[in-house]
Amino acid sequence: EAKTKSRGSFQAFRPEMQLKSEWTKRMRTDLLAAIGTDQFFLVYQPIMKASDQSIVGVEALLRWHHPDRGIISPTEFIPVAEETGLIIPIGTWALQRACQTARSWPSNIKISVNASIKQFENNNLAGVVRDALTNAGLPPERLKLEVTESVLMTENSVSINTLKEIQNTGVSIILDDFGTGYSSLSYINTFSFDFIKIDKSFISRICRPGDREPIFEAIMGMAQAIRIPVTVEGVETVHQLEYIRGLGCEFVQGYLLAKPMSETDISRVLIYNGGISNYRSDYSESNN
Ligand code: C2E
Ligand code: MG
Ligand code: MG
Ligand code: MG
Repeated sequence: EAKTKSRGSFQAFRPEMQLKSEWTKRMRTDLLAAIGTDQFFLVYQPIMKASDQSIVGVEALLRWHHPDRGIISPTEFIPVAEETGLIIPIGTWALQRACQTARSWPSNIKISVNASIKQFENNNLAGVVRDALTNAGLPPERLKLEVTESVLMTENSVSINTLKEIQNTGVSIILDDFGTGYSSLSYINTFSFDFIKIDKSFISRICRPGDREPIFEAIMGMAQAIRIPVTVEGVETVHQLEYIRGLGCEFVQGYLLAKPMSETDISRVLIYNGGISNYRSDYSESNN
């Protein structure tokens, strides 16, 4: 049955909420069963240069094909995977798979993989990253690790040391979803990020030509001042693309240019025809 998402609206208790929490409970056992049974897969979304829209990289995004419930979004299952610790094996799998897949792409195309804060705790993440690269035969310069600022907010310095260790091997570190959460300019100085990705909630407020988003522009200005290249994610319209190009944003990712696609499709785009307008899709995502 269809579920309707209410975005930011206040609601009284409804029976669906009970169902939701039962599903969350069931998700814990189902996630455990999903590991090792081929239920996870990655989809791949191109990242382009804002100036000429050439593809410079690809972000790997996790999906769960649940046997009864179909394809489940990571926004739904990653919090449960984090809470149960299952994000560690799932995250390791995603890294390995993404590196293996990227191995066959042209060498100028980078692969971005998301890493959860939990993967930095009590886990040899630097070793996991190194092994994924070695096993795939992928040079570290081809990999980018996307982390949110939550990684910098932990009490101890283990996470920052791990980030440095990984960065020292040649892997780039991206600060993802910048501008959300407890975002503050001080975090940007605790680690020398290679790239900043501005959260899609900012650009989504640009609707008509001439619309402006002052906070977004301030973040862009700050990134330019400290010379860290910016990617804007969630670009869905031509107005939004023109707006960010006008601000000097380097990289862009969004449904306007390309949606997440299957491993086969991204290979076709990158290897066989060098363009996104000219492929037949065997997997496609709806616009919500
Ligand atoms: P994220 O890393 O910020 O990824 C960007 C999200 O924005 C993706 O959602 C992508 O599909 C979506 N997106 C891209 N372009 C557009 C657009 O133009 N409009 C809109 N509305 N959305 C767009 P997705 O795939 O649902 O992933 C959600 C989040 O789940 C990710 O956010 C990331 O935080 C997490 N995630 C995904 N894969 C992994 C993974 O392998 N490991 C970990 N730890 N987290 C992951
Ligand atoms: Mg990301
Ligand atoms: Mg993001
Ligand atoms: Mg996000």
